Amino acid sequence: MGKGVRQGDPLSLMLFVLAVEGLKALIVQAVRLNILDGVHVDGYPEPLSILQFADDTLIFVPNDLDMIKKLLRVLRCFEVISGLSINYQKISIVGINMDNDSLLSASSILNCSISHFPITYLGLPLSVKPIRATSWNPIVDNFQSQLANWKGNLLSPADFFGVVCQKEKAFIKCRGISIPAPLSTRFPRLFSLFSNPHISVSHMFSNMPIQFTWRRRLRIGEQEELELLLAELNLVTINSNVLDTYSWMGRPNSFNCRSVSRRLQQGHSVQNRLQRGALATGIWKWKVPPRIQFFAWFLVKDRLFSNASLVARGIINYDLIGCSICNEIETSIHIVLHCEFAWKFWSVILRNCDICWVSSPSIEDFYNFWSSLSIPVYKDLWWLVWFFGCWKFWKARNNRVFNDGASSTDSLVYLVICRAVLFYASFHPHFPYSGNDVFRCIDYFVKTI
Ligand SMILES: [Zn+2]
Repeated sequence: MGKGVRQGDPLSLMLFVLAVEGLKALIVQAVRLNILDGVHVDGYPEPLSILQFADDTLIFVPNDLDMIKKLLRVLRCFEVISGLSINYQKISIVGINMDNDSLLSASSILNCSISHFPITYLGLPLSVKPIRATSWNPIVDNFQSQLANWKGNLLSPADFFGVVCQKEKAFIKCRGISIPAPLSTRFPRLFSLFSNPHISVSHMFSNMPIQFTWRRRLRIGEQEELELLLAELNLVTINSNVLDTYSWMGRPNSFNCRSVSRRLQQGHSVQNRLQRGALATGIWKWKVPPRIQFFAWFLVKDRLFSNASLVARGIINYDLIGCSICNEIETSIHIVLHCEFAWKFWSVILRNCDICWVSSPSIEDFYNFWSSLSIPVYKDLWWLVWFFGCWKFWKARNNRVFNDGASSTDSLVYLVICRAVLFYASFHPHFPYSGNDVFRCIDYFVKTI
C-alpha cells in the first residue's frame, strides 16, 4: 500500500469508494450545519443533497450563488483532506428553473461546463419532462447485447442446434419423392432460414435450377449445407404426369394407430409452440433441485441431446437415430413419455392410483394431464415425482447407451418416489410419511376420479 496502487488494480476501486464516501459525509455534515442546503422532498425530513454511486455523483444545491461558493469551499476541503484532486473540467452544472445568467455565474464560480436535460445518470436518462421512448433505445440495446452474451455463454449449444423442426411437411413438400426423411429434419438450419417453408414441390421445381429465397445471407457452414441439399435434389426427377398420392413416410411395417397418431402430432402447430414457451417458463416456479429443473427446461424446449437432435446436428448418422430399447426415433418426448420404458413407468404409478390413461401426444398435454391429477395440498410432491421421473429416465437412458446398464421399471418407480419424498420432506419437516408409505399408498396423494 505504501508503494501506491497501480491503475487497473482491483484494489484501487475499493480505495476510491472509501475516499469518495468522505465527500458524502462532508456534504451531509455541511447541510446539517446549515452551510449548504439540498432539495426538500415531501415526506423526507432530511433534504436531498447528494446522490452517489461509485464515481457518478449528483450534488443538489439551491439557486443561490453564495451557496455555490460554499459548495466550492467544501469541495476544496475534501481535496485537502483526501489528497485527491477534483477535475472541474469533468463537472457539469444543470439548472432546473434557473435563468441563464444565474447558471452562467454558477458555472464560472465552479469553473465547470453547463449541461441541459436530459442527462444520463448511472446509464439512465434523467429529465424534468417525460422521457421520449427513443431515449430508452441505448438502454434497450445495452440490455440486448448483455442478454445475447448471457445466452451465448450459457445456452449456446442448445440455442444453436435447438431449431430441430419436426414438421412433417417437408422443407419442400416431398410427397411421392423417395427421400429417407423430411428435408426439414435433415437440414433444420436451412429450413429455419427459408423464407417460404410451405412452398410446394411443383413450384420449387418449376424453375430450374432451383431458386431459394433466404431470410438472410447464408454463412459459410450454411452454404456447405446448401450444396449438400442441391446435390441431393439434383438426383430427383419430377414426373409431371404422375398424380400426387399419399404414402406412409414412417418405417415400413409400422403403420398402426399409435404411429399415425404420433406422426400427426409431430407436425405441431404454432399454438403448440406457444404453449411450450409458457410451459418452459412455468418450470421455474416449482421447488425442485436446480439441476433437475434445468434438465426439465431443456426437455420442454425439446433441446435434450437425444439421438434425433444429434442426427439433426450432423453428429451421428441417421442409422443411429433409434432408441436403444424400442428402436423408434429417439426424441426428447420419446425418452420421457413414448418409449416403452417410460410408458411402463407412468403406467405403474397411475395404475396404483386407479387411473386409466393413454400416452399423451405431446409434453404439454402430459404436463396438463399430470397437473389435473394432483390434490392442492400435495401438489408440490406430485410434481416432484414428475420431475424426478423424467430425470431418472434420462439417467437410465444414458446408462443404457454408454454403460450397457439395465434398470427395471418397478425399482425405478420406488427410487423416484423415495427421492421425491426425501426432497419434499427437506422443506416440509412435518410431512409424516416416508418414501415407502407414499409408494404403497400413492393414490392418497391424487384426486379421486
Ligand atoms: Zn424407446
